[in-house]
Amino acid sequence: MNSALTRTELTTKIEALRQQGICYVCHDLQTGELFGAQSVIYEDADFRVVLELHPRMVGHTIVLYKPHREDVSELTNSETAHVFQMCVKVIQAIKQALGAEKVYMVTMCDGPINHLHIQLLPRYPDEPIGSKRLVSPRGVLVDAEKTAAAIRQALH
Ligand SMILES: [Zn+2]
Repeated sequence: MNSALTRTELTTKIEALRQQGICYVCHDLQTGELFGAQSVIYEDADFRVVLELHPRMVGHTIVLYKPHREDVSELTNSETAHVFQMCVKVIQAIKQALGAEKVYMVTMCDGPINHLHIQLLPRYPDEPIGSKRLVSPRGVLVDAEKTAAAIRQALH
């Protein structure tokens, strides 16, 4: 299903929106123009959980908090609880569905006009432990529907 933009095309579009002072995530939530074909694991009024289009490993997942917040520092206490609870649920589902031993949780949201999102990066048994996983080379998303469905099924 995925005729996704290349990472370069995506970066160019995002930069163009930024120069107009537009948040690309809010823009995409309204139009579906950038990540329309992305595999959605879960969605409700506050969250969209998707597989990363250019993943560093199988199961690389993005938890997107829909209301516009530049980064975690803008969250209220109740939002923090809400966001963290969502991440924990997805982490548990990734472990159960994909057999990850650990799931690393990262949020940066650096640079101008950002929109809070959290990256979940699974580490599988026998893979090296440590922060090098955070900069593993990006690949192409394969078996997206199957992976998304497996995580979705394990979510509860
Ligand atoms: Zn936004």
